[in-house]
Amino acid sequence: MQNALNFPAAILQAPYFDQNASDAMNYGGIGAIIGHEISHSFDDQGAQFDAAGRLRDWWTKEDGEHFRQASAALVAQYSAYEAFPDLKLDGQLTLSENLADLAGLAAAYDAYRVSLAGKPVTPDADRQFFLGYAQSWRDKERDAALRNQIATDGHAPAKWRTYTVRNLDPWYPAFDVQPGQKLYLAPQQRVRVW
Ligand SMILES: [Zn+2]
Repeated sequence: MQNALNFPAAILQAPYFDQNASDAMNYGGIGAIIGHEISHSFDDQGAQFDAAGRLRDWWTKEDGEHFRQASAALVAQYSAYEAFPDLKLDGQLTLSENLADLAGLAAAYDAYRVSLAGKPVTPDADRQFFLGYAQSWRDKERDAALRNQIATDGHAPAKWRTYTVRNLDPWYPAFDVQPGQKLYLAPQQRVRVW
């Protein structure tokens, strides 16, 4: 198996990448996608393949144990999301992808801040970063398709993928998110796996 990440040209367009959008928006869009894919190389999926692409689990027992403990909070967070009155998301089924969203968004944010070296930072830069992320997940689907996705797809539906932001500290000052608001998480409840 090739140990590589391939980004087809077709994804390098809006809403993931727009050459007329700000850098902040693009880091929140395609930057988070690239970070997501890179992080799979280091998670429970990536653990199955070594650096040469061979099917060989390279994690130690301790690595696996730490990963299971750290990821339990993310399982609980996603399992609490209610798509319909009678249907919640499956935090275990979607764990790998939710982890990749979290790691990818955090890495994209760090990369964006690094990219600013020497450049003036606009006051709304962080807002644009998170808006870029949220807008990259705009979609619309029928209830039946959504139910099918929740039951069978390892990816959480798009709406809940945007909720990844509540685990990132910079999202709070960017939008002045306060305790009691729907997506607010106390600092110690924000999930940091990596
Ligand atoms: Zn993924």
